[in-house]
Amino acid sequence: MPNRPPNAERSFIMIKPDGVQRNLIGKIVGRFEDRGYKIVAMKMVHATTEHLEKHYADLKGKPFFPGLIKYMASGPVCAFVIQGLDAVKTGRAMLGATNPLASAVGTIRGDYCLVTGRNICHGSDAVESAEHEIALWFPEGVIEYEDTEHAWIY
Ligand code: ADP
Ligand code: MG
Repeated sequence: MPNRPPNAERSFIMIKPDGVQRNLIGKIVGRFEDRGYKIVAMKMVHATTEHLEKHYADLKGKPFFPGLIKYMASGPVCAFVIQGLDAVKTGRAMLGATNPLASAVGTIRGDYCLVTGRNICHGSDAVESAEHEIALWFPEGVIEYEDTEHAWIY
Protein backbone atom coordinates (compact mmCIF):
# COMPACT_ATOMS: atom_id res chain seq x y z
CA MET A 1 0.00 0.00 0.00
CA PRO A 2 2.39 2.75 -1.20
CA ASN A 3 -0.14 5.57 -0.93
CA ARG A 4 -0.89 5.71 2.77
CA PRO A 5 -2.16 9.08 4.04
CA PRO A 6 0.73 11.39 5.04
CA ASN A 7 -0.17 11.22 8.73
CA ALA A 8 -0.07 7.41 8.64
CA GLU A 9 3.24 6.85 6.86
CA ARG A 10 5.15 3.86 8.21
CA SER A 11 8.83 3.09 8.69
CA PHE A 12 10.62 -0.07 9.76
CA ILE A 13 12.97 0.43 12.70
CA MET A 14 15.20 -2.28 14.15
CA ILE A 15 17.38 -2.19 17.24
CA LYS A 16 20.42 -4.23 16.27
CA PRO A 17 22.03 -6.92 18.50
CA ASP A 18 24.42 -4.43 20.15
CA GLY A 19 21.56 -2.09 21.03
CA VAL A 20 19.55 -4.97 22.50
CA GLN A 21 22.49 -6.28 24.53
CA ARG A 22 23.35 -2.81 25.80
CA ASN A 23 19.77 -2.60 27.14
CA LEU A 24 18.87 0.38 24.97
CA ILE A 25 15.48 -0.89 23.75
CA GLY A 26 13.44 1.28 26.09
CA LYS A 27 15.43 4.43 25.40
CA ILE A 28 15.28 4.01 21.62
CA VAL A 29 11.60 3.06 21.41
CA GLY A 30 10.86 5.90 23.84
CA ARG A 31 12.39 8.45 21.50
CA PHE A 32 9.95 7.52 18.75
CA GLU A 33 6.99 7.53 21.13
CA ASP A 34 8.09 10.87 22.62
CA ARG A 35 8.34 12.36 19.14
CA GLY A 36 4.73 11.40 18.47
CA TYR A 37 4.95 8.15 16.51
CA LYS A 38 2.61 5.27 17.14
CA ILE A 39 4.12 1.77 17.43
CA VAL A 40 1.99 -0.49 15.22
CA ALA A 41 4.13 -3.67 15.32
CA MET A 42 6.96 -4.93 17.50
CA LYS A 43 8.83 -8.19 18.15
CA MET A 44 12.14 -9.71 19.23
CA VAL A 45 13.69 -11.87 16.52
CA HIS A 46 16.93 -13.82 16.32
CA ALA A 47 17.10 -13.63 12.54
CA THR A 48 18.65 -16.24 10.26
CA THR A 49 21.44 -15.29 7.87
CA GLU A 50 19.06 -16.01 4.95
CA HIS A 51 16.53 -13.51 6.30
CA LEU A 52 19.20 -10.87 6.93
CA GLU A 53 20.64 -11.37 3.44
CA LYS A 54 17.17 -10.55 2.08
CA HIS A 55 16.91 -7.48 4.32
CA TYR A 56 20.31 -6.19 3.18
CA ALA A 57 20.09 -7.52 -0.41
CA ASP A 58 21.04 -4.12 -1.89
CA LEU A 59 24.40 -4.29 -0.08
CA LYS A 60 25.39 -7.74 -1.35
CA GLY A 61 28.83 -7.42 -2.91
CA LYS A 62 30.04 -4.72 -0.50
CA PRO A 63 33.26 -5.72 1.29
CA PHE A 64 31.59 -5.33 4.70
CA PHE A 65 28.55 -7.49 3.76
CA PRO A 66 29.71 -10.80 5.36
CA GLY A 67 30.69 -8.99 8.58
CA LEU A 68 27.37 -7.11 8.60
CA ILE A 69 25.36 -10.34 8.33
CA LYS A 70 27.46 -11.98 11.07
CA TYR A 71 26.92 -8.97 13.37
CA MET A 72 23.18 -8.89 12.70
CA ALA A 73 22.84 -12.65 13.26
CA SER A 74 24.89 -12.58 16.49
CA GLY A 75 21.85 -12.07 18.72
CA PRO A 76 18.22 -11.00 18.80
CA VAL A 77 17.04 -7.74 17.33
CA CYS A 78 14.01 -5.69 18.33
CA ALA A 79 12.01 -5.01 15.17
CA PHE A 80 9.18 -2.49 15.14
CA VAL A 81 7.12 -0.24 12.91
CA ILE A 82 6.47 3.42 13.60
CA GLN A 83 3.50 5.23 12.10
CA GLY A 84 2.91 8.95 11.74
CA LEU A 85 3.67 12.07 9.72
CA ASP A 86 6.82 11.77 7.60
CA ALA A 87 7.85 8.61 9.51
CA VAL A 88 10.55 7.56 7.03
CA LYS A 89 12.39 10.86 6.67
CA THR A 90 12.03 11.83 10.31
CA GLY A 91 13.01 8.31 11.39
CA ARG A 92 16.24 8.66 9.42
CA ALA A 93 16.88 12.10 10.90
CA MET A 94 16.36 10.72 14.41
CA LEU A 95 18.77 7.86 13.63
CA GLY A 96 21.65 10.07 12.44
CA ALA A 97 24.32 9.26 9.86
CA THR A 98 25.47 5.71 9.10
CA ASN A 99 28.84 6.52 10.68
CA PRO A 100 28.11 7.43 14.31
CA LEU A 101 31.11 9.78 14.40
CA ALA A 102 29.41 11.83 11.68
CA SER A 103 26.04 11.74 13.46
CA ALA A 104 24.87 14.88 15.23
CA VAL A 105 24.63 14.77 18.99
CA GLY A 106 20.95 14.34 19.81
CA THR A 107 20.48 11.58 17.23
CA ILE A 108 20.28 7.93 18.31
CA ARG A 109 23.61 6.99 16.72
CA GLY A 110 25.16 10.31 17.74
CA ASP A 111 24.25 9.69 21.37
CA TYR A 112 24.81 5.96 21.84
CA CYS A 113 27.54 4.59 19.58
CA LEU A 114 30.90 5.16 17.94
CA VAL A 115 31.52 2.93 14.93
CA THR A 116 29.71 2.19 11.65
CA GLY A 117 29.93 -1.58 12.11
CA ARG A 118 28.16 -1.33 15.52
CA ASN A 119 25.65 1.42 14.95
CA ILE A 120 22.82 -0.02 17.10
CA CYS A 121 19.76 0.85 15.04
CA HIS A 122 18.31 0.54 11.54
CA GLY A 123 15.69 2.73 9.87
CA SER A 124 14.17 2.47 6.37
CA ASP A 125 15.62 4.93 3.87
CA ALA A 126 12.56 5.44 1.61
CA VAL A 127 8.82 4.82 1.67
CA GLU A 128 9.22 1.99 -0.86
CA SER A 129 11.94 0.25 1.16
CA ALA A 130 9.85 0.69 4.30
CA GLU A 131 6.95 -1.15 2.65
CA HIS A 132 9.31 -3.90 1.54
CA GLU A 133 11.01 -4.25 4.94
CA ILE A 134 7.71 -4.23 6.86
CA ALA A 135 6.42 -7.05 4.64
CA LEU A 136 9.67 -8.99 5.15
CA TRP A 137 9.75 -8.69 8.95
CA PHE A 138 6.01 -8.64 9.61
CA PRO A 139 4.41 -10.96 7.02
CA GLU A 140 1.54 -11.36 9.52
CA GLY A 141 0.82 -7.63 9.13
CA VAL A 142 0.77 -4.79 11.62
CA ILE A 143 -1.85 -3.68 14.12
CA GLU A 144 -4.55 -1.32 12.87
CA TYR A 145 -6.35 0.52 15.65
CA GLU A 146 -8.28 3.69 16.27
CA ASP A 147 -7.00 6.14 18.85
CA THR A 148 -9.17 6.19 21.93
CA GLU A 149 -7.29 8.73 24.07
CA HIS A 150 -10.57 10.44 24.85
CA ALA A 151 -11.47 7.38 26.90
CA TRP A 152 -8.23 7.41 28.93
CA ILE A 153 -7.34 11.05 29.43
CA TYR A 154 -9.88 13.08 31.45
P1 ADP B 1 22.17 2.81 6.96
O1 ADP B 1 22.01 1.75 8.03
O2 ADP B 1 22.51 4.14 7.56
O3 ADP B 1 21.01 2.87 6.02
P2 ADP B 1 23.61 1.41 4.84
O4 ADP B 1 22.29 0.97 4.35
O5 ADP B 1 24.57 2.03 3.90
O6 ADP B 1 23.46 2.42 6.09
O7 ADP B 1 24.38 0.17 5.51
C1 ADP B 1 23.66 -0.76 6.30
C2 ADP B 1 24.48 -1.09 7.51
O8 ADP B 1 25.71 -1.74 7.08
C3 ADP B 1 24.96 0.10 8.33
O9 ADP B 1 23.99 0.58 9.23
C4 ADP B 1 26.14 -0.49 9.04
O10 ADP B 1 25.74 -1.31 10.14
C5 ADP B 1 26.74 -1.40 7.97
N1 ADP B 1 27.79 -0.70 7.22
C6 ADP B 1 27.63 0.24 6.26
N2 ADP B 1 28.83 0.67 5.79
C7 ADP B 1 29.77 -0.02 6.49
C8 ADP B 1 31.20 -0.03 6.49
N3 ADP B 1 31.88 0.75 5.66
N4 ADP B 1 31.83 -0.87 7.34
C9 ADP B 1 31.12 -1.67 8.17
N5 ADP B 1 29.77 -1.72 8.23
C10 ADP B 1 29.10 -0.90 7.40
MG1 MG C 1 20.30 1.45 4.66
